[in-house]
Amino acid sequence: MLLMWLVLGACRPSATAGPSLVVIEGALVFTGDGSEPLTDHSLWIRDGRIHHLGPTASREPPPGAQVVDARGHSVLPGIVGMHHHLHMPGAPWLGETLPRAALACVVTTMQTAGAADAEREIALAAAIEAGDVPGPRIVPSAPYISGPGGNAVMLAPSSPDEARAFVAKWDERGAAWFKLYRHVEPSIARAVIEEAHARGRKVTGHLCSLSYTEAARMGIDRLEHGLNPATDFVTDRPAGACVPSRASKAALTLDDPRVAQLIDILVQHEVTLTSTLAILESGFPHRPQADPRSMAALEPGRAQEEQRRQEDLVASASGTTSTPKYWTLLTGFERRFVEAGGRLVAGPDTGRHVILGYGDQRNFELLVEAGFSVPQTVQILSANGAAALGLPDVGQLRVGWQADLFLIEGDPRRDPAVIREVIQVYKAGQRFDPAALLADLQGQVGLR
Ligand SMILES: [Zn+2]
Repeated sequence: MLLMWLVLGACRPSATAGPSLVVIEGALVFTGDGSEPLTDHSLWIRDGRIHHLGPTASREPPPGAQVVDARGHSVLPGIVGMHHHLHMPGAPWLGETLPRAALACVVTTMQTAGAADAEREIALAAAIEAGDVPGPRIVPSAPYISGPGGNAVMLAPSSPDEARAFVAKWDERGAAWFKLYRHVEPSIARAVIEEAHARGRKVTGHLCSLSYTEAARMGIDRLEHGLNPATDFVTDRPAGACVPSRASKAALTLDDPRVAQLIDILVQHEVTLTSTLAILESGFPHRPQADPRSMAALEPGRAQEEQRRQEDLVASASGTTSTPKYWTLLTGFERRFVEAGGRLVAGPDTGRHVILGYGDQRNFELLVEAGFSVPQTVQILSANGAAALGLPDVGQLRVGWQADLFLIEGDPRRDPAVIREVIQVYKAGQRFDPAALLADLQGQVGLR
């Protein structure tokens, strides 16, 4: 058995087969349950799972174990990312580059939240699961469902029956999630949600034609991009119409009773909210702009285009609704939602200069900046995602659970930016070298 594992391991790029027991010793361990980290702890990995977790001094590793000295390092559960497209505008398939970037930057499971090429996404998820391709575990999506006005990669079923048939087809092919997009008609949305639930599948939405309140009452499972797309505060919106909603929120404050009311409805209906601060930040002139690492990874034409877009964004800073006040509302809403008992998850989205992996690390920094503690942020990025996906043994560092974890330099409570200093990544106990995964991506994202 061990021999077979070693042979298989040798065929896998960037993965290193190890001895049967790996002991990570002396680390600061964030378990993912939201509590303060365990100091000077050891974590043992055997057969892909966490075999033991306890104070380093309490147990001596047996002879033959591979011991990793992790003093001065932190160990965190692998990110369970919840908005991880394998495409970006103008590039319908980036399945060769993006999973590697995500895994290198500590994403060990990801849900795509809308597919531009669902067939290839499902096939890639299977290839990764079989160990043929390095990447995070992928929970695939069906093609987007929109309505009149949606774009070319999206489908617009013309009747509830057609919507049900669409869900049946993609359920049978293995798509676990369905995503409603901005122009979806209410009767179609309702049919998709009912049919998906009847089949044990789930539905998320980047909405506009439906308010969050309407979607929650229909039974939607999740909402993307935090408060930003919510049309709940638009007065006189015709039923089912997608209308601009920024202005309706520009004047809103967190203490407005309508904010608490909306949060109550989402919490009561157990709707998960996906925070996508990394991509939202890229539209605010007062916020830091592109991560140089992402710009170097992007295909040069795309990177130049992005550079110009950013210059225009900064130049047009006056008159935009992307104000510091609006940013504070978006981040404050996420905090209030969690305080009220809501389940917040996170994903970077894919587009502009935001790519998987680097975008997840930026989300970590932004959630801390938004006022979440570091242990809470770890929980949002790992355990909460796993719970939303219904994965029973992923997202926390617990004995018997999958050994999905990573080591970073230092303590992220002192400086959240150490999330970028990844030393090792383990997925189901298999070790990956981040530098090797990233090596051939420079200038490639956007091409393949
Ligand atoms: Zn998206």
